[in-house]
Amino acid sequence: MAFKSSKFLLILLTTVFLCIPSYAVQSIPVLCYHRCGAEVKDSMTIKTKDFASQLEWLIKNGYTVITLDTAARYIKGEIKSIPAKSIVITADDGHKSVYSDMAPIIKKYKVPVTLFIYPSAISNAKYAMTWDQLRELEATKLFHVESHTYWHPNFKREKKSLSPEEYAKSVHTQLYKSKATLEKKMGHGIKYLAWPFGIYDKDLLIKAKEAGYDMAFSIDNHHMKAGLDNMAQPRYMIIDGYNLKRLESISSGKEDK
Ligand SMILES: [Zn+2]
Repeated sequence: MAFKSSKFLLILLTTVFLCIPSYAVQSIPVLCYHRCGAEVKDSMTIKTKDFASQLEWLIKNGYTVITLDTAARYIKGEIKSIPAKSIVITADDGHKSVYSDMAPIIKKYKVPVTLFIYPSAISNAKYAMTWDQLRELEATKLFHVESHTYWHPNFKREKKSLSPEEYAKSVHTQLYKSKATLEKKMGHGIKYLAWPFGIYDKDLLIKAKEAGYDMAFSIDNHHMKAGLDNMAQPRYMIIDGYNLKRLESISSGKEDK
């Protein structure tokens, strides 16, 4: 009888253990794109047809592109589960080829994409999109704009060249003015930040949190996961020359060492 009840207890405990959901155990690859074009003139531009084959490959191979917000909330434990092969797509800098080349492909595959934007370039720099184009992209419900600071500074260089007071002022402008401008122009809250050039340090992580960002992203070529500093969650920069085998290696976690 004693044996029977202990066996029963063991089965009961095992069942209970297996039914307890383990939160945020899944790590998530976040891809970082920049520009697309028929011709490639620099490593940050990838051929438009390669971008299309990469999306096609992800879908065919069972990946689910989830929003950055879903991924962030999952990592923070606010969402309890996500699809097994979840992946996030982001595109930095607001280059006009996001509108002309990437958007038609994204609309075809109906996947969500987060655009990290630095407001000083929008409707201003020749290479950048306009505010109307950004709003048009958001109206598709596939795109969502977040912050990439105000004018994309190199914080490492600024820290060396500016006085401590000037540097502190610049950091404040980059974090607060970007958030406020994007919120006004896009009409929604801004929760996420991508560090320009992937550059950050301990002080910047604190400042980003103080400025009200929920999470910030670098380009440290690892999966996003619970337990890492939420002000420096990593992404993989996708550059020209990455073939589908490399994409497989990144997405499957083989490079997440
Ligand atoms: Zn950038």
